[in-house]
Amino acid sequence: MESYRPPRLDREDAICPYCRAQGSLTNFPLYQRSPENVTPFPLNRMAAPRHPYLPLTQRLPDGRTTVFSASRCVECSRLLLWGNETLLFPPFSVRPLALGALRTMYASEVAQIEHAQLIMDLAPAAAAVMLRHVLLALCAPLGYSPQSNASYVVFLDGKLRGEIGKHSCETQRTLLKRGCVRNDVPLEPDTYDAHDDAQTVIALLKLIEYIAQTYFSGA
Ligand SMILES: [Zn+2]
Repeated sequence: MESYRPPRLDREDAICPYCRAQGSLTNFPLYQRSPENVTPFPLNRMAAPRHPYLPLTQRLPDGRTTVFSASRCVECSRLLLWGNETLLFPPFSVRPLALGALRTMYASEVAQIEHAQLIMDLAPAAAAVMLRHVLLALCAPLGYSPQSNASYVVFLDGKLRGEIGKHSCETQRTLLKRGCVRNDVPLEPDTYDAHDDAQTVIALLKLIEYIAQTYFSGA
C-alpha cells in the first residue's frame, strides 16, 4: 500500500485532488503589485515593457521565503494554491481509492468516503466517524446482522483478522490502537474520538479499500 502523499508542484504526474485526473495540472505564477510601481497590469502581457508586479511571496520568521503559485486542472477547471512545492489548497489529497463496484453499488457511502478525504487534514476525528459509518454499511452485505450479539467491529475483526495481518505494521498498529477492528475496544459509528488523527483516517481508508477489493471487486 502506498503511504499518504499529497500532490507536489514539482511532480508532473500529480493527481488533481478534486477530480482525480493525473497529470492534468497547469501551473502559473502569482504576482503582487509592486508598491513602487502601481501601473495597472496590461491585459496584453506581450505589450508590457517592464513587469510592474513582483512574485507573490511571504518571508517566514526563520528567513526562508515562500513563493506562491497556482494551478488549474484542465479536466475540471478548478484551482489549487501552492506554497513553494507544497499544496496549500485544497487542504488535502490522498491517492484515488480503488473501490471497484462500490462506486455504483454504494454511491452514498462512496460520497461519504470522498468527503472524509476532503476534511481529513482539518477534522480527522470527524472524518473517522464518517468512515466508521461506511464500514457499518459495508458489513451487512458481508453477512453481519445487527441482531447478533457482536458489534460490527467484532464482526469485522473476525472476518478480516487474517487479512489485517497482511497490511503494513503501521496500518495494523493504527487499526488496533484506535479500536477500529479490535473487539475489546469497540468503537461504534457514532463515537467521536478526539484522538483520531490523520493516520487513523488513512488506516480506515486502507481497510475500506481492502474490503472493496476483496468483496466488491466484481460488477
Ligand atoms: Zn481536476
